[in-house]
Amino acid sequence: MWGAGERRVGCKGGSVGREEEAEQSRRALPPLGFPPAVRRHLMDPDTFTFNFNNDLSVRGRHQTYLCYEVERLDNGTWVPMDERRGFLHNKAKNVLRGDYGCHAELCFLGEVPSWQLDPAQTYRVTWFISWSPCLRRGCAEQVRAFLQENTHVRLHIFAARIYDFDFLYQEALRTLRDAGAQVSIMTYEEFKHCWDTFVDHQGRPFQRWDGLDEHSQDLSGRLRAILQNQGN
Ligand SMILES: [Zn+2]
Repeated sequence: MWGAGERRVGCKGGSVGREEEAEQSRRALPPLGFPPAVRRHLMDPDTFTFNFNNDLSVRGRHQTYLCYEVERLDNGTWVPMDERRGFLHNKAKNVLRGDYGCHAELCFLGEVPSWQLDPAQTYRVTWFISWSPCLRRGCAEQVRAFLQENTHVRLHIFAARIYDFDFLYQEALRTLRDAGAQVSIMTYEEFKHCWDTFVDHQGRPFQRWDGLDEHSQDLSGRLRAILQNQGN
């Protein structure tokens, strides 16, 4: 549950001692669970196209963007919660400013408690994420803990691209699947949906980039293989 005093899932994870908390406020850091400053209402079209392009050979995409929406189950129908829709990206580490950074998935988990979702209801959260979640920084593990503690929340992750060159990232995908999250690759339909929903497109329709469908099919095949392989 997300009640007060419960386990905090946030950028840094774990519990924070009083001394550390005082130290944090001296550095004027926002407390855990507060919306990251990087959040915007609508995404710049070029930012979307660059970051969500699913051609793995394009270099230089070091950030992870995460668009999200939430629906509530009402008499068997999923009802969108328009006020719970947005996007964020990871915050880079800047130790000199006392900022230890935050992966996009953990920034998201840090926001959820402030929404005060009703544990008696059922919610479906959908992520559209430019890179699949990692394991190295504990993202997949924290998502698993979140889903275990919040059984009234379902999670569907659509990834534009997956990190599959590293065993740990493959393991992260299996961890999420085992935790009950549905993991899929974004297709034209999801890219168009994100463009229409999260991008400041000024009335311009979504234009598919070269190779969108081929890359999507290729990545879906890779994801299937990763999920079938138990890593033994
Ligand atoms: Zn991560």
